[in-house]
Amino acid sequence: MPNISQLSINLATIRERCTISQALDLVARLGIPAVSPWRDQIAQVGLKATVKQVRELGLRVSGVCRGGMFPANTQLEWEANLEGNLRALEEAVELNADCLVLVTGGLPKGSRDLVKARKQVEEGVSWLLERSIPAGIQLAIEPLHPMYCADRSVVNTLSQALDLCDVLGDGVGVACDVYHLWWDPDLQTQIARAGQSRISAYHICDWLQNTRHMLLDRGMMGDGVIDLPLIRSWVEETGYCGFHEVEIFSQDNWWKKEPEDVLRTCIERYQKCS
Ligand code: ZN
Repeated sequence: MPNISQLSINLATIRERCTISQALDLVARLGIPAVSPWRDQIAQVGLKATVKQVRELGLRVSGVCRGGMFPANTQLEWEANLEGNLRALEEAVELNADCLVLVTGGLPKGSRDLVKARKQVEEGVSWLLERSIPAGIQLAIEPLHPMYCADRSVVNTLSQALDLCDVLGDGVGVACDVYHLWWDPDLQTQIARAGQSRISAYHICDWLQNTRHMLLDRGMMGDGVIDLPLIRSWVEETGYCGFHEVEIFSQDNWWKKEPEDVLRTCIERYQKCS
């Protein structure tokens, strides 16, 4: 039997051609042990129904995507952002997720104040930690490639995310996504610095040499330029033994294919190329 005991599927990977219910059934039928759903997918059927199906299928949840998006221009907006994070936390709790992934948010509309946005991220995660620690949920700050700094995440390197973790203390780690981090000359050092205790999630896909869309053209493992076995070895050297979560946004390729074919390819490439 192929060893896929650490494989997880981020459900964004098959989001376009099946519902969350179909996706969960399919993942379980193929013997994949874990998933990571997005909040809009959970909302398709509601939290209760999602939890019920996940439990009945015996699936683990490697993470809930996502909380974060903290920076705001006004108090009202700030409070709404925090409120959204509470809902995300509740979903992670009910699904017994390994972590709540945080994409921290970019600059609020019209702002050029990057320092302030980063300060707001620190305050936001700190606020959320006061709730996530008693709830028993690990937070995972996901640094995003610098090209997303304006609109999605003002946290852009593993080093920066770990600095934030140092300030914030226990209960928060990092989500290491190869798509965002592979180019970083400091990656090996920073993965070692994170160590087992602060690597809360490990996301895999590939970077296509000829990337056509900066958000929606991720590659399948083996189709791009990332040395996945090398990065995996760095991650595993820390003692990390959590899930390896395949997360592929691919509007012109994988999202158009039959979900079952996509998942079969994920299994094959996970074993062969990562
Ligand atoms: Zn990711």
